[in-house]
Amino acid sequence: MELDIHPLGVPHEEGKPLLIAGPCSAETEGQVMETAKELAAQGVRIFRAGVWKPRTKPGCFEGNGEKALPWLRRVKEETAMLVATEVATPQHVESALKAGIDVFWIGARTSTNPFAVQEIAESLRGVDIPVLVKNPINPDLELWVGAIERFNRAGVKRLGVIHRGFSSYDKKIYRYHPMWQIPIELRRRHPQLPMLCDPSHMGGRKDLVPSLAQQALDINMDGLMVECHCCPECAWSDAKQQITPDDLRHLFDKLIIRTETQETEYISVLRKQIDELDNQLIDIISRRMSICREIGKYKKEQGMKVVHTSRYSEIIENRESQGTVLGVGTDCIKRIFEDIHQESVRQQIEIINK
Ligand code: PEP
Ligand code: MN
Repeated sequence: MELDIHPLGVPHEEGKPLLIAGPCSAETEGQVMETAKELAAQGVRIFRAGVWKPRTKPGCFEGNGEKALPWLRRVKEETAMLVATEVATPQHVESALKAGIDVFWIGARTSTNPFAVQEIAESLRGVDIPVLVKNPINPDLELWVGAIERFNRAGVKRLGVIHRGFSSYDKKIYRYHPMWQIPIELRRRHPQLPMLCDPSHMGGRKDLVPSLAQQALDINMDGLMVECHCCPECAWSDAKQQITPDDLRHLFDKLIIRTETQETEYISVLRKQIDELDNQLIDIISRRMSICREIGKYKKEQGMKVVHTSRYSEIIENRESQGTVLGVGTDCIKRIFEDIHQESVRQQIEIINK
């Protein structure tokens, strides 16, 4: 389906990434105001804060709800920033509109549910407000596109998306795996759709935020939504991934905004695929090592030797011929498997001599 999209119409400095920043949750009026004032002083023009928090387990802090809405109104009045929050039900929409919230985002857990998305979309009929749709938690581009289409069909024209990464059983490095090929494909299909990246939820750790932000800009995303807190260690939710307004300024100072050329974009698409495969390679090697350690324990119990030459020759020979079939040089395959085997032997020797 063709999308009927209008510009988001939010403040945005020409040539710079669109920026939304603020805490994961609006915890107290004091925390909201302090964070907002620091961010406004850094030049941030759109403030985010979660009022209703979709938490995985009950009993965690689930947001202050309506009580926090007047705090966001105060942010608007005292800093002139626009304010953004997550809405997950028509009731949220109604209360947030009454409170004068300027920008809505749809959370990853909500985007997975077409019934919920449809209800929210219906509640927005006739309302002209920017809506940013986060990707669903599972890596399903069609479900993401479906959610975007539901809003567009309900007449929401100021639409954008936020790529925040995808859940996977293996946590690997990231809290939510970037799978850059998915937003890249979305951009290919709908080039006019503004696309932001949320490096905070994606990384799940503050030290990963700058490099993910850079990668997002390198694949030509239009902006960033970054979780910032006046005191990240004290945060009531997502404490590990929030940065201070000061960190945000450093991050921005270091970001490289590359001038787009066809060639650069092509290379960065390919490099993302390589990064993805390398992540998988490292993950597979680490899983292989954990099986080797299991074998090491068993060999120790049974009084077996660590190296069995016949098994070693079998591995090298088989892998070499598999490599040849797939067009990878035998020398290269041999070196890789010698190294892998050497590391397995080292780990098993460590276990046996413990
Ligand atoms: C959030 O941005 O506060 C949030 C809950 O994110 P997500 O829906 O991406 O998990
Ligand atoms: Mn959060």
